[in-house]
Amino acid sequence: MACSAPLRQSGGAADCPSPASSLLAIAMTERSVDVAIAGGGLAGGLIALAVARRHPQFDIALIEGGDRLGGKHRWSWFGSDIDPAGEGLIGVFPVTSWPGSYEVHFPAYRRTLRASYNSLASEDFARTLERELNQGSILTHRPVASLDAAGLSLADGERINARHVIDCRGLKDAPQLTGGWQVFLGQEWQLDRPHGLVGPVIMDATVAQEGAYRFMYLLPLGPDRLFLEDTYYADTPRLDKAALRVRIADYVGEHGWSGRALDEETGVLPVITGGDFAAFQAAQRTSGVAVAGARGGFVHPLTSYTLPQAVRIANLVAQAVDREDVSLASLLEREAQRHWHATGFYRLLGQMLFGAANPAERYRVFQRFYRLSEPLIERFYAARSTWPDRARVLAGKPPVRITRALQAIASQSPPLVAPSLVDRSEQFHV
Ligand SMILES: Cc1cc2nc3c(=O)[nH]c(=O)nc-3n(C[C@H](O)[C@H](O)[C@H](O)COP(=O)(O)OP(=O)(O)OC[C@H]3O[C@@H](n4cnc5c(N)ncnc54)[C@H](O)[C@@H]3O)c2cc1C
Repeated sequence: MACSAPLRQSGGAADCPSPASSLLAIAMTERSVDVAIAGGGLAGGLIALAVARRHPQFDIALIEGGDRLGGKHRWSWFGSDIDPAGEGLIGVFPVTSWPGSYEVHFPAYRRTLRASYNSLASEDFARTLERELNQGSILTHRPVASLDAAGLSLADGERINARHVIDCRGLKDAPQLTGGWQVFLGQEWQLDRPHGLVGPVIMDATVAQEGAYRFMYLLPLGPDRLFLEDTYYADTPRLDKAALRVRIADYVGEHGWSGRALDEETGVLPVITGGDFAAFQAAQRTSGVAVAGARGGFVHPLTSYTLPQAVRIANLVAQAVDREDVSLASLLEREAQRHWHATGFYRLLGQMLFGAANPAERYRVFQRFYRLSEPLIERFYAARSTWPDRARVLAGKPPVRITRALQAIASQSPPLVAPSLVDRSEQFHV
């Protein structure tokens, strides 16, 4: 169970002091753990879980500055994105799964694909971690003020010493990288009648494009429960919440549904098309501290998804954390470089998407892509495209003018500087 108060002794169970004793305790407290994780979002929570399962004797501190683990998110992924070890980890959470099929809708056609799709709500993520991690491991409402190779200091003055320090504080800014944006607003609706959908609609791009690549994303969470997200691949990180709410309501009405929105989430995520990754890593680096999650660069450049990488890295950390000969900081830095080099193809496609295609025509890139074979599409989302896959994606009549595509490849995209790369409403800053 999460305890937002400082812990007064090394290891052991959480001990929530009375308000009167808190100030004194805050000034004096120091604690030692095996693994201290700054940031209780997706990457931090998965690492804590993977380490706790493999090394139940380890003391772990998972330190979140916000009021709850995981913020306000719904994370989704294809079954084929994750290997069996990863399934073992993510399978600990209560996941909504659609085993048989999902759909994509484009102006030219509709297609049903067979890959399984899965989704995890951050409330279930937080509840599961509270159950699975030892009491006292989770600290919420506790911003990390600074970290170093030997531990971290909280904004309230507590010091947590640790054998391993892992920075999972999310990505705030990436001026060293270039690209565009994936901007979205999602709402969970309680409908008055069943919606009739049998599986997710990952992209309904038949909607008005509104100066970007725009599509609706639908997850049928129950017979009359529907998650609807209005998503844009846009040049700027502007999120107009009021306009998106109206568009979702209009979409609901146009489909003959009615009901009410229960819940909402927003995202402004980078679509990385290039940049100087070494400079990006240098900007995130604290000597001796491992960096994971989006902050470490473990992102699919084109889809902005991080869950498959977060699962993989969590298992990798759990395997390496008790090895004296391995520095977690160096291990993750090398892994991130390997991931960067392996994903150049997706950055190239992103460049073509943003640079070569007139915003209203961007949907054609995806319309053409989704005509390709299902295994190729699965490998694409898993960032495991083979060389023949790459040739197949680029071959044939291009959906954008070839001269513009070449210009786009040669040109420089804008730096990824936004008010914040993360959803500000769900984040706080020290
Ligand atoms: C609404 C939304 C939906 C998304 N959907 C998907 C999806 O379906 N599939 C997918 O793969 N990806 C998705 N993403 C993209 C990406 O996977 C998520 O952003 C993911 O949460 C990133 O994981 P992370 O751990 O790196 O960062 P976060 O999950 O953002 O976690 C960082 C945590 O660190 C905390 N923190 C920051 N500073 C401090 C500090 N100083 N002290 C203590 N704590 C601090 C934050 O409060 C936050 O909880 C989505 C993103 C958003 C915003």
